[in-house]
Amino acid sequence: MIPEFNKSNLAEIRQLLSTPKKVCIITHQKPDGDALGSSLGLYHVLEQLGHHVNIVSPSDFPEFLAWMPESSKVIDFVRYPAVATDLLKNADLIFCLDFNEPHRVEKAREALMGSLAVRILIDHHIKPADFCNYTFSYPEACATAELVYHFIIQLGFRSQLNKQVAECLYAGIMTDSGSFRFASMSADTHNIIAELMRAGAVNYLIHEQIYDNFSTNRMKFLGYCLSEKMEIISDLRTAYFAITQEELQRFNHRPGDTEGIVNYGLSIKGIILSAFFCEKDDFVKISFRSKDLFSVKDLAAIHFNGGGHRNAAGGKSSATLDLTVEYFLKILPSYKDALLVCP
Ligand code: 5GP
Ligand code: MN
Repeated sequence: MIPEFNKSNLAEIRQLLSTPKKVCIITHQKPDGDALGSSLGLYHVLEQLGHHVNIVSPSDFPEFLAWMPESSKVIDFVRYPAVATDLLKNADLIFCLDFNEPHRVEKAREALMGSLAVRILIDHHIKPADFCNYTFSYPEACATAELVYHFIIQLGFRSQLNKQVAECLYAGIMTDSGSFRFASMSADTHNIIAELMRAGAVNYLIHEQIYDNFSTNRMKFLGYCLSEKMEIISDLRTAYFAITQEELQRFNHRPGDTEGIVNYGLSIKGIILSAFFCEKDDFVKISFRSKDLFSVKDLAAIHFNGGGHRNAAGGKSSATLDLTVEYFLKILPSYKDALLVCP
């Protein structure tokens, strides 16, 4: 599964990049390993080519990603709205990585869409909106970092694939593929991983930096979620968690602490749908994970104003936490056939 990007589009972009440009890279709200890894991977390639590159993130990112080379240069739109707006406004080129609709950049949307820069999308979410001059969309890819790899190679920038680039792209593929275990992980992706290791990515160090980097509070919070908060609906093969702000505060919550907990529901035999409801200041953030053909992307899009991939999606609710869960439990039986048909 190697995407063949449109050759004339690539030629035009190669031409654009043939002289130094002001480049802005932007990714989705609350960047995960793939969002940040693909952005920083591309950043390090473009920097070597002599461009002036900045990365704008619509929000902060988890501490366990801060080891990525030059992550401290990422500009948080919420903290520095004027700086980030100017960078987007004055850019010649804007790369949109790991999202498929302008609203995924939240408060940075106006600055992104108002900019006269040439916009280039590289992403693996299905049905990208038509908001970029160039769209490199390939939903079969397990990560945007995988697509950035192909983009770099197909543009002829293989010699820029150094250790820093390799570390960032490795982390992106690793996190979005559940450490190389999801169905989206192909033999070709394993070949890319081998290439990235040859280029200097040290596999066990990256795994340790991401997965063995939790605070004591975060581990205790995980234990609390599993022992006190996990609800199982066996006949609908569903697990879910609903966490209040008070509970987050009790465990001295830091950005990223809730990430990944939703996956534990799927470790239970027979469970193929897991949901994590998390109370925020004025909305409820929801993460969904599923197995096999059951599409949480559709469930999130139809009922929770969200989207994502078939087996990993998210959404939002403006109702209270209790009412959001009540609504979820109300609509769930309508998916019974689809849930039971899965192996
Ligand atoms: P997570 O549960 O890790 O926040 O998100 C899982 C997947 O769903 C990611 O691919 C993410 O891009 C997507 N996603 C999460 N929240 C939303 C949302 O509110 N809207 C859309 N369209 N996608 C989302
Ligand atoms: Mn991704």
